[in-house]
Amino acid sequence: MLAKARQLLKQVYGYDTFRKGQEAIIGGILEGRDTLAILPTGGGKSVCYQIPALLLEGTTLVVSPLISLMKDQVDALNRLGVKAAYLNSSMGATEYREVMRQAFMGEYKLLYVAPERLDAPMFASLTEQMVIPFIAIDEAHCVSQWGHDFRPSYRQLAGWIARMSNRPLVAAFTATATEEVSRDIAAMLGLRDPRIHVSGFARDNLSLSVVSGTDKPAFLRKFMAERADQSGIIYAATRKETEQVHAMLEKMGISAGKYHGGLGDAERAEMQEKFRFDEVRVMVATNAFGMGIDKPNVRFVLHWQMPGDIESYYQEAGRAGRDGEESECILLFEPADVQVQRFLIEQGTGDQERKSIQLAKLHTMMNYSRTQRCLQQFIVEYFGEADVPPCGKCSSCLDKSELVDRTDDALKALSCVARLKGRFGVTTAAKVLKGSRDKRVLEWGLDRLSTYGLFSRWPEKEIADWLYWLVAEGYLVMSEGQYPTVSLAAGSLPVLEGREKVLQRTRTTVRKAASAQVSSPLFEALREWRRVTAAREKVPPFMLFFDATLRELADAAPMTHEELLTVKGIGAAKADKYGDEVLSIIRSFVGTAGSSAALQRAADEAADVKRSAEAVGSGNESRMQSNADPAPAVTVSAASEHAGAAGASHVQSLEQFEAGMSVKEIAASRGLSEVTIEGHLIRCALEGYKIDWDRILPRPYEGRIAAAIEQVGGEKLKPIKEALPKEITYFMIKACLAKRSLG
Ligand code: ADP
Ligand code: ZN
Repeated sequence: MLAKARQLLKQVYGYDTFRKGQEAIIGGILEGRDTLAILPTGGGKSVCYQIPALLLEGTTLVVSPLISLMKDQVDALNRLGVKAAYLNSSMGATEYREVMRQAFMGEYKLLYVAPERLDAPMFASLTEQMVIPFIAIDEAHCVSQWGHDFRPSYRQLAGWIARMSNRPLVAAFTATATEEVSRDIAAMLGLRDPRIHVSGFARDNLSLSVVSGTDKPAFLRKFMAERADQSGIIYAATRKETEQVHAMLEKMGISAGKYHGGLGDAERAEMQEKFRFDEVRVMVATNAFGMGIDKPNVRFVLHWQMPGDIESYYQEAGRAGRDGEESECILLFEPADVQVQRFLIEQGTGDQERKSIQLAKLHTMMNYSRTQRCLQQFIVEYFGEADVPPCGKCSSCLDKSELVDRTDDALKALSCVARLKGRFGVTTAAKVLKGSRDKRVLEWGLDRLSTYGLFSRWPEKEIADWLYWLVAEGYLVMSEGQYPTVSLAAGSLPVLEGREKVLQRTRTTVRKAASAQVSSPLFEALREWRRVTAAREKVPPFMLFFDATLRELADAAPMTHEELLTVKGIGAAKADKYGDEVLSIIRSFVGTAGSSAALQRAADEAADVKRSAEAVGSGNESRMQSNADPAPAVTVSAASEHAGAAGASHVQSLEQFEAGMSVKEIAASRGLSEVTIEGHLIRCALEGYKIDWDRILPRPYEGRIAAAIEQVGGEKLKPIKEALPKEITYFMIKACLAKRSLG
């Protein structure tokens, strides 16, 4: 059976080998064992139940909580040549009946169902009328109260499954489950002697960082500038902050979407689609965003603020790099953010017990934000995994700053805490060390402690921070509950006994992920082909091929169908569907390269076009400072031959512009932002399309802008803008720069 599974992996998905864990999980299922599998995000859960589904007689039911994910999965399966469908609440009655009819006829290998759409009679009729060998539960942590995303409808469905008279094989999958949650899942689903697979929570392709004490807007500018052309998510805590960060990005000329509870359903759905289709590069969102999104090429997830628990953080951060390529997760941390979260918990609904659980989780999250230990290790240990080596690429692992010996300060703090005998919190301990005349301190007689006033010269906040740091490093612990108290932890002993020193690092660094892959003209041509083809088929580009597959195609330059099938991510169905087009693009490149000079010329040309486009195209300030960034912005001529650039989005905008519409009107008619349309027009100009400059760059202004550029330089937009009267817009400045670059 396993040999057959391997064969399907190659034939259907185009992958040569199973990933860590997949083979064991599939093997167990094929032996007829109930299964609980914990795989990190992007670890390849779907294959684990899809391959058994293909091998088993009948239709596999897949329980999945999210409508959009379900749709993606079914689309992807159909593209791979596998019959699959879904039942969820987004469907009309007719469509629903039709899927039910075909399901009863046994047409599908996989049927995805959303629990909230099912009631008991419906579930009964499904299971009675169909041959169901196997039920796969995705995001299985949703059945557990202890999880971070409990859903009553999941619990209900789990109950029906557990009580089925002739219950099929059941496998539950999740990416995040503490031991407690795992036990709960197994119990709720009534798993029988399940095989439990824990593939490890570590995500090799993620670089985790915590950055604290930084000017966030300045950080954002620099961060975005160094990551031109990368897709990412920025999580903010509140609607207001989401709006603010979004505005900052727009100001930088970055195409960004926003997503929060204050927007209407339609607007949110549209933002999400634009992000999925790569029409906006960055999404700024509250934690309301992301559950339904399975975009593989998210290169970074930046947290503007600390979330409330490690589970949420890792789940949100884990949306980076689902395609397995190097990606970054950065948390911006300010101690004050802890207060915000604490407030949210205290004001929240839920009983006292639930609140204390949340507060305890918040403390762990805070410890993560302050730890000097390997961040990846910290997280996997939280999920119960031991003996994971340091990742070597998180901000802690990379921190090469000097270690400062702070044993003395630690001893002072520790002995003060010891004298407080676990009856007070960090704030009070800090007041005592400060020597505060606070009423409560005096009432309790704490001013008589020998440690009173030991840090009288430090600001109180700094003392509290120092205590928190000692907590994060395991020298102190905080109790659970609403008013956590602080006491000595086991880790303090060696220090108190003088056997160990306390060393502190001071600075944090964020390494740029090694994701900036060098592109080639052929890669660009393939990418453009993918964009156009995906737009025609109305699916996101990744649905055709991932970037990694395109890159491999560009490197390997296969010339035949057989060779094409050796490329990772190309199975039989995709080779049939797209093989000819892809091969003809490759041949057109390699064909001319009989003289490699031609290829070189193409490369130079592409680099030139790209450079000028990057200098101006999106107005991203620091894109202009470096033209070394290999991220592609514009395509090569060869691409347009094959792809028909006439249909391209930016060219459409130009056509409308030529027909007399204003930028504003075009934006409204296409449901895109004005900034996007402006970007389109400039891109067209740079690609050599004729454009009526007078309409975008009023004559009387041109001279003044040119003068300002001479004066402050053409490197950055902002100084130019500041040197000019208000009515001169960024767009006019960009237009002027573009025009000058064209000579
Ligand atoms: P998750 O566990 O997050 O649900 P997916 O099932 O979506 O992950 O898989 C993540 C990505 O990894 C998908 O694009 C999938 O096609 C790819 N993948 C899965 N298994 C393999 C494999 N054995 N080799 C290469 N890529 C794989
Ligand atoms: Zn590390």
